[in-house]
Amino acid sequence: MKDIKKIFGSMVFNDIVMQARLPKDIYKALKKTMSQGTHLELDVANKVANAMKDWAVEKGATHFTHWFQPMTGTTAEKHDSFISPSGDGRIIMEFSGKELVRGESDASSFPSGGLRATFEARGYTVWDITSYAFIKDGTLYIPTAFCSYSGEALDKKTPLLRSMEAVDKQSMRILKLFGNKSARRVITTVGPEQEYFLIDHDMFLERPDLVYTGRTLFGARPPKGQELEDHYFGCLKPRVSDFMKELEEELWKLGVYAKTKHNETAPAQHELALIFTTANISTDHNQLTMELMKTIANKHGLACLLHEKPFAGVNGSGKHNNWSISTDTGTNLLEPGETPYENAQFLLFLVAVIKAVDEYQDLLRVSAASAGNDHRLGGNEAPPAIVSMFLGDELTEILEALESGSDYHGKEKHQMEIGVTVLPHFPKDTTDRNRTSPFAFTGNKFEFRMVGSTFSIAGPNIVLNTVTAEVFRQFADILEKSNNFTSDLASLVRTTYKAHKRIIFNGNNYSEEWVAEAKRRGLSNLENTVDALPAFVSQKSIELFTQHHVYTETEIHSRYEILMDGYCKTLHVEALTMVEMVNGQIIPACIDYQNDLAKLLDRKKRIGGYDTSLEAHLLEQISKKSTCLLKRVTDLENVISDSKDIQEILAHACFYRDKIVPAMSELRLIVDELETIVAKKYWPLPIYGELLYSVV
Ligand code: ADP
Ligand code: MG
Repeated sequence: MKDIKKIFGSMVFNDIVMQARLPKDIYKALKKTMSQGTHLELDVANKVANAMKDWAVEKGATHFTHWFQPMTGTTAEKHDSFISPSGDGRIIMEFSGKELVRGESDASSFPSGGLRATFEARGYTVWDITSYAFIKDGTLYIPTAFCSYSGEALDKKTPLLRSMEAVDKQSMRILKLFGNKSARRVITTVGPEQEYFLIDHDMFLERPDLVYTGRTLFGARPPKGQELEDHYFGCLKPRVSDFMKELEEELWKLGVYAKTKHNETAPAQHELALIFTTANISTDHNQLTMELMKTIANKHGLACLLHEKPFAGVNGSGKHNNWSISTDTGTNLLEPGETPYENAQFLLFLVAVIKAVDEYQDLLRVSAASAGNDHRLGGNEAPPAIVSMFLGDELTEILEALESGSDYHGKEKHQMEIGVTVLPHFPKDTTDRNRTSPFAFTGNKFEFRMVGSTFSIAGPNIVLNTVTAEVFRQFADILEKSNNFTSDLASLVRTTYKAHKRIIFNGNNYSEEWVAEAKRRGLSNLENTVDALPAFVSQKSIELFTQHHVYTETEIHSRYEILMDGYCKTLHVEALTMVEMVNGQIIPACIDYQNDLAKLLDRKKRIGGYDTSLEAHLLEQISKKSTCLLKRVTDLENVISDSKDIQEILAHACFYRDKIVPAMSELRLIVDELETIVAKKYWPLPIYGELLYSVV
């Protein structure tokens, strides 16, 4: 057996390595910068860089890279070697503090959503001292933020860090009001659960749709899907198990807390959960997890599909973003606690989250919007596009009792008074039963389940952090002025709950009744990305993000453009891929089959005396459907060509949603029909049954 303790973090320049390798004063100065954000002197940076380089070289590294997260959803890196000429024809290995702290990168090839036009093309990467450097593939990776020359954020990390600061600042104000003297910071904690599919790599390469778009654009449903529910938590196939073992080991080396692995609902679907840590590190680690999933799958002859809906009619993949806030002294602020004082504080934070989710439901929806996730949200296995919250019966009853001033009708039936009585204990497992809620309280954290499997979790957490920070601010403003803290606190909890309880729904979110009920309650139902995104550039959104210094107004507009543009581009590539597959593979297959049928029919007729009804029937059916196929592919080609005339970004996206998507669906229908009648040996693509059951 491998020594996990030894493996874990072995490739990370973590606190233990720092302590061992840095002079005491340098270590102290670095820690101070890490925890308090104080300026890092160049002299300290030089010493740290040198120690990092020595450590990395000992571990076999030859290069270093500033690793950052542009607005593409993936990560970016540019490798430089440590070598430097020594003057006598040889080299020395060098790495300076300047190189560690700041890098220059051409920003012009990354999405900037208009920022490029107004700002210099030059971009800077700046060391994120709060996320440890690590070695991967012989390179020292330095997590960095990425911004333009004039300081506009060009990445996902910068606003995430800013939003964490906002939560810290506002919740500390509340903690102070409760007399907390020990906490110095409040940290947002996140534990993501990642779903994915594994299929055979050779089959993957035979499907241009998977190669170009990450999902199947055609494919009839197999006779067996997930109906028998025999895959969920089923035993792992040897190839999958080997893959998972290697993945875990590589993640552990990088200090990633890979914890739980299991088969998911759909055939070929799996999940990996990480143990929670700070939102920033968790985001870095989730990016690493997705990247390693892909590269390690390849090594095992597998392809890892991270798309939200790789197979129509089969469960899609999401990412459950478990979120909470905790003090630097380790107190989870969403943990009810055991004394009246802790309970009151818990209730205040709880109703703050309720208010934040209700008031900014549209922004949460935006944070989970993409062309890929449009196939999933509202599907039968995923939360609907309506944002609501699940609290569980016990907690809801408690809040109801508090609101009305009536007795709590739980087991210990008694009058509840905020700040005076102890909350009755509500078992954690009962709060975890609802799997249909997009935003569920699960005992001591919230689980945001709308996020798509390909997403960087930075986006959803930026929104979660900022909307809660805003409500914490409002609460702190009120309570700081209060002359009677306990009674004002109680009335704040009550009135907030009363005003925002419409967002709470403990029932089945997949039911049609809920859609009607949500409408009656005035909740929004933004069904697709194009409907959702404009909320991001609303006045309310701009005020929120600018007030908390998370985004500037320019940054919001640029991101909105990138998201809309991403939506159109995704669909554009999908539509072109469909056309190419139909013209290059599917029509020729239909022709080949018809040709053989026609030849046989002809031969039989010439010989005479045979029944030709089968050939004639098939030929007629395929011929008819092929004509329809030609019409539909032509229709799609025409709308693709029409789309080029539309300049304005929202109109462009609307065109894709209203014209291209329906044309793609129509084309798919006929291709899927053909798949079921064209003989297998002519069909040019591996079919669903083969893809989903390809790994044994
Ligand atoms: P289970 O669902 O198996 O009961 P948990 O509910 O403990 O497991 O955790 C599910 C996910 O939530 C894990 O990724 C875990 O690390 C994460 N999580 C647990 N506590 C917190 C917290 N305080 N903040 C953020 N994430 C958390
Ligand atoms: Mg979960």
